[in-house]
Amino acid sequence: MLADPASSPLAEQWRQRDLSVVWHPCTQMREHPHTLPLIPIARGEGAWLIGHDGRHYLDAVSSWWTNLFGHTEPRIGAAIARQATCLEQVMLAGFSHEPAITLAERLLALAPRQPGRAPLTKVFYADNGSAGVEVALKMAFHYFHNRGETGRTRFVALENGYHGETLGALAVGDIPLYRRVYAPLLAEALFAPSPDAYQAAPGQTAAGRAQQAADGLADLFERHPGQICAVILEPLLQCAGGMRMHDPLYLKRARELCDAHGAFLIADEIATGFGRTGTLFACEQAGVMPDLLCLSKGLTGGFLPLSAVLTTQRLYDAFLDDSRERAFLHSHSYTGNPLACAAALATLDIFASDDVIARNRGTAGVMRELAAPFTDHPHIADVRQTGMVVAFELARDSDRTTPFPASARVGLHVYRAALARGVVLRPLGDVVYWMPPYCIDDAQLALLAQTTLAAINEGIACA
Ligand code: PMP
Repeated sequence: MLADPASSPLAEQWRQRDLSVVWHPCTQMREHPHTLPLIPIARGEGAWLIGHDGRHYLDAVSSWWTNLFGHTEPRIGAAIARQATCLEQVMLAGFSHEPAITLAERLLALAPRQPGRAPLTKVFYADNGSAGVEVALKMAFHYFHNRGETGRTRFVALENGYHGETLGALAVGDIPLYRRVYAPLLAEALFAPSPDAYQAAPGQTAAGRAQQAADGLADLFERHPGQICAVILEPLLQCAGGMRMHDPLYLKRARELCDAHGAFLIADEIATGFGRTGTLFACEQAGVMPDLLCLSKGLTGGFLPLSAVLTTQRLYDAFLDDSRERAFLHSHSYTGNPLACAAALATLDIFASDDVIARNRGTAGVMRELAAPFTDHPHIADVRQTGMVVAFELARDSDRTTPFPASARVGLHVYRAALARGVVLRPLGDVVYWMPPYCIDDAQLALLAQTTLAAINEGIACA
């Protein structure tokens, strides 16, 4: 067993206090602190998280993919502070405020467009990604209900997809680890084949795989005529499903199929949005506009929880009526919180002033160069990249096809080995990935690559 890297007396004190009262997310608490280190963080600075003992950890996963421009980015911090002296919160029912209005205007102006389609014109706020997904699902269903199409009760989701942990979001997720226990509670979704290029048959291209998966989606539509209210997907990149990537062609076909069958397309860009895939939104790479676009995570630069669901006038209009039941009554106390909206506005300012997407192209190029030698590693079956995300698929045998047994917990060993070297890599199963804050510099990227190789080798040796 590796030593817990944060072992100063002060860090130890915080760890003890934490473990006596805090129940952590996505964690088997029994593994803390011996199998799984628990690292109390005192502060953040750029791409670094800094422990109470002064140890620095390179945040190569952007704190669950939320952080864009570095920890404590001063412009976002200042915007929140300014807003806090003016208005910290007001309910958004019956009231409004400048940050919520301006943010909605600006998001709509930036949202993906598609020739021949009326643009997205309305923004509904919620306060985290899963809540945003709930909103989109409920809106899609409720639209058809309001129009008297009460048979449209089914959602189509993709195999290996992930949309959050609330019951509605879990119902359209396909990651057994999160879903299995709660299965009896979940509405029954229809699952279409994933376009994941890693699952392509030998000799099949990514585009071929996308076509094949789209044929599977077409088949689902044929088998459930008039029953499907929406297809929900993560465009280009199934993140929690192991950073699996697909050809944009799939999005085009999904858009066409939704149109042909009168269903909505919900793009969950909670993780892919705000420049992660190389464009501001992943949908842009397919020239596709969804009917509902879910945003969160990077929306506030990683400072505060907020989500936004962008949708069309057509959908919005179906809720206008004398009856309250036809209205979309969904509400969260912190819907459109002014502090979070101010953080989001500051984030959009940075995109505008710093030419972030262009700068990221350079950073993504460096990541590509650093990742290239990993293709020769005998236990790396695949190295793939979409924009600012690089993933390494570990495999047991040199034939590169057999995964490590889950019980070997290679990912956990890699995680610990990287942490001990001051880098936060948090593999998804046996998929090690880089998804760093955009401020990461070349020296930090070089450290990341070097540490990744050492951690993979050590992790495999431990397993
Ligand atoms: N959708 C996607 C694609 C996500 O990656 C996530 C979070 N990892 C969510 C939804 C849920 O967001 P949250 O954790 O804020 O509820």
